[in-house]
Amino acid sequence: MALSRLDQLYRQVILDHSSYPHHHGTLEQATDQIVLNNPTCGDVIQLQLILEEDRINDIRFSGTGCAISTASASMMTEAVMGCTTQEALALVDQFSLLVQGKEDDNVEALGDAAILSGVSKFPARIRCATLAWKGLEKALSEARKEQDNE
Ligand code: ZN
Repeated sequence: MALSRLDQLYRQVILDHSSYPHHHGTLEQATDQIVLNNPTCGDVIQLQLILEEDRINDIRFSGTGCAISTASASMMTEAVMGCTTQEALALVDQFSLLVQGKEDDNVEALGDAAILSGVSKFPARIRCATLAWKGLEKALSEARKEQDNE
């Protein structure tokens, strides 16, 4: 069966993000960082953040992963750059519902990441798609805990 034109467009956007990921690299001044892996596929992603007054001032990722995990990490950094912790966590929730096929409206805030909704049809790839987002969620909640302890 031939791919629809829309599928081809989606595939192209995913390929662009995985071949030329946005915000790829490391941050010397990172305030928070985390390393995540998805053993099922072999994806490893390192995430670094600069959190200032509860806002994501900068975010970078590095590591090696499949096209879906790399594209998703790239899209995630794009979506959450400049967000407050709360806004970013809301996006993480929205994205994980999306890739489970549970949400399909109001996804504009996710930017290019909304394209990954198609992953819901491939359960084995959901963990690839959510890896960076789950990592962000973990890094932000750890940062929040540290703040509460101060
Ligand atoms: Zn993967």
